[in-house]
Amino acid sequence: MISLANIAHAFVFCPRCRAEMAVVASGGRPRPTCPSCGFIQYLNPAPGAGVILRRGATVCLVRRRFEPRAGQWTLPTGFQEWDEDIATTAVREAREETGLQVRLTGLFAVHTGILPPDRPVTVVFYEAVECGGELRAGDDAAEAGFFALDALPGRIAFAAHRKVLRALGAPLEEEP
Ligand SMILES: [Zn+2]
Repeated sequence: MISLANIAHAFVFCPRCRAEMAVVASGGRPRPTCPSCGFIQYLNPAPGAGVILRRGATVCLVRRRFEPRAGQWTLPTGFQEWDEDIATTAVREAREETGLQVRLTGLFAVHTGILPPDRPVTVVFYEAVECGGELRAGDDAAEAGFFALDALPGRIAFAAHRKVLRALGAPLEEEP
């Protein structure tokens, strides 16, 4: 029997009527459900987007200012806002984190992974080119720069980003 405590991010109390939530099978899966008003909490991965931005043989990376994985490096990436197209997310995050205005040139990959400790995310990676701005770390990036794939500046924070960098030719080991 699955209890609420076994479901990460499950509401304990109903956000609509404040009754205590229970677990009820719905659509073949146990879901947090309100026995009082019928509210069902559907848990979904959070969507995000990032860019692969190159200068010659180098690629743009940013160093994370905040946890999780503060101090480690990623492609410029962030979460999709409620009212935003996913392509707009990629352009906005690139500008916020690197100071660079970019134009998307194609879809590169879509990866689902875990944002530590336990948040499932689906990240859409676009290829992009610069069309303005000046390189400057901003928002939740502590540093931003362009690096050769065989001379990355430090540890790459997330498996999805390592996968993309490997696909681009970086000599990174496969790891969980
Ligand atoms: Zn309720």
